[in-house]
Order: sequence, then C-alpha cells, then structure tokens
Amino acid sequence: SDTKIITVIGSGLIGRSWAMVFASGGYSVKIYDNQPGQSTKAIVEIKKQLQELEDAQMLRGEATALQQVALISSYDDLSQALEGAFFVQECVFEQLEVKQSIFQDIERLVGKDVILSSSTSCLVPSNVFSKVQNRSRCLVSHPVNPPYYVKLVELVPHPETAPAVMDTTHTLMTKVGQAPVRLRKEIDGFALNRVQAAIIAESWRLVQDGIISVKDIDLVMSEGLGMRYAFIGPMETMHLNAPEGLEDYMKRYGPGIQRVLTSFGPVPDFCGEGSKGIINASKTTKRAVKSN
Ligand code: NAD
Repeated sequence: SDTKIITVIGSGLIGRSWAMVFASGGYSVKIYDNQPGQSTKAIVEIKKQLQELEDAQMLRGEATALQQVALISSYDDLSQALEGAFFVQECVFEQLEVKQSIFQDIERLVGKDVILSSSTSCLVPSNVFSKVQNRSRCLVSHPVNPPYYVKLVELVPHPETAPAVMDTTHTLMTKVGQAPVRLRKEIDGFALNRVQAAIIAESWRLVQDGIISVKDIDLVMSEGLGMRYAFIGPMETMHLNAPEGLEDYMKRYGPGIQRVLTSFGPVPDFCGEGSKGIINASKTTKRAVKSN
C-alpha cells in the first residue's frame, strides 16, 4: 500500500501518545517494546483512548477511531517492527546507555536514509547518538507530555544532522498536527526546559526568601503571566506592549529588566535543608496533595 510506515520504539506513556498522533495523520505505525506482550497491551489501551476521544468529539485526524487503530500494529521483534519504516521515533527509558544501545541495534537493521529520532527530555543528541555510525540522519524530537494535547515538539540536531533531515521531520510533525520548533544547535535543557528552569528558580527563590507564599507564586503564573503566555510568547508580548514595538519596549523597560536580573541570586537549594519549608508549605495546598 501507499501508507508510509513509522516505527515507535517503546510503548510507555510517550510511545503510545506518538502512535496515536502519527496514526491520526494517516501513517501506519509499528510499535516495538522489548518487554514481550507490552506493545500488544499498548494497542488495547490506545484503542480505549481513541474511542473515548471519539465519544468526546476530541479525536484528531480525519479517520474514525477504529480506522486509526487499524493503522497501528505491535511487535516483540525489532527487525520486523523496523521493516519498511522511513522514520523511527524512540521512546524508551530516559537512560543514556539504554538509548545508545537501542540506536546501535536499530542502525544495523535499517537503511541509511531512515531518520532516527529520539523523544529524550534531558539528553543531548551528541550523547544519545554517539554509538551510531551515520549521525547525519539523527535528531531529537522532544515532545511535551501529553503530546496528543500539547503540540509543541522541539527538533534538536546532532552537530552532524543533515539540514534535509530537520526539514523532513519538521514537515512530518506539521502534517500530523504537531507544532515543531527548530533549535539550531544542541544545548542542555533544549529551549522549553531552559525557560522552565528560569521560572522554577526565581519562583523558588521568592518563596525561600520569604517574599511570597507557595500558593501566591502559583497565582502569579496562573492568574497573571500564564494568561498571556497561553496565547503569545515573551517576544510578541514585549513587541505589543510598547507603541513602537520591541526596540521601543527595550528603551523604556530594558534598564529595569537588567536591574532586576542583576539581583537574581545563585542557583537555589532544591533538595537540602533550605528546601524543607517550601516542600511542607506545598503539601498544604489542596491540588498538590491530590496529585501526589
Ligand atoms: P515509560 O517508562 O512510560 O515507557 C518506556 C517504555 O520503553 C516501556 O514500555 C519499556 O518497556 C520500554 N523499553 C525500555 N527499554 C527498551 C528497549 N531497550 N527497547 C524497547 N523498549 C524498551 O517512559 P515514557 O514516559 O514514555 O518516556 C519515554 C521517553 O520519552 C523518555 O526518554 C522520556 O524522557 C521522554 N519524554 C517523556 C515525557 C513525559 O512526561 N513522560 C515527556 C517528554 C519526553
């Protein structure tokens, strides 16, 4: 048939989500897991989820839930799972050695044009792909959990990744309805987690220094900054906040932002003695207790 094949390696939370996203875009998806029977169980779970989404009228893609499930198949054998695939999305445990070794196995079984993509959250491509021979076809496609609802995907190249591989992956992600962004170079934390780390650090510091409560710093985000950032990013916000745009904004507010930035302290203590007060305070908020 003409249906293009994508292989998903690992059938946990993220593997199942990727399978649903790719099937919604009409791709044939082969799921492999090294725990025998695990990928078959994953399809049962996916079927249930797709039917619930269809009932709630939240199913993505043109096809029905049953048609989408029919595009997904499960394998306990890696070489069978990889047969015919043009794109491989790896979703195994977040352990460097596990990823390095599965990519070594995959490379032995696929042609040199097959794109090898990792879902890693925290490992840079030069580490993940260090045991792959042909690294020009490798990249990280970092999803945000849950990818079926949160569409951002960070595309992060290995220093040797071919531009065409970035372009093909960008096109694929767009086609299946995700929102891909490109990093031009790899960096620890990629973009999303670096921005998130900055927010976490300053929130933590303000609570630890006794400036604000745990509950109120959350409100600063949910009732304030987050309201804007759900729709437009920091650059567009600044551009719109001054009559003449970004340059004007920085003339007016840049010195104040610089002054505040120089008052930021060192990296906070997240785990030691100094963290206990914050951790206890967060336990008293209702939602935190529920999600624990
Ligand atoms: P998970 O533990 O739910 O699933 C991992 C799956 O991989 C399991 O089913 C396991 O049996 C399988 N597996 C382990 N080793 C394997 C191997 N050698 N070959 C084949 N299958 C193997 O993990 P997850 O939450 O789905 O995360 C998968 C990847 O996605 C990780 O790299 C993680 O960092 C990344 N990620 C996770 C999130 C998240 O919020 N969960 C978000 C973005 C990215």
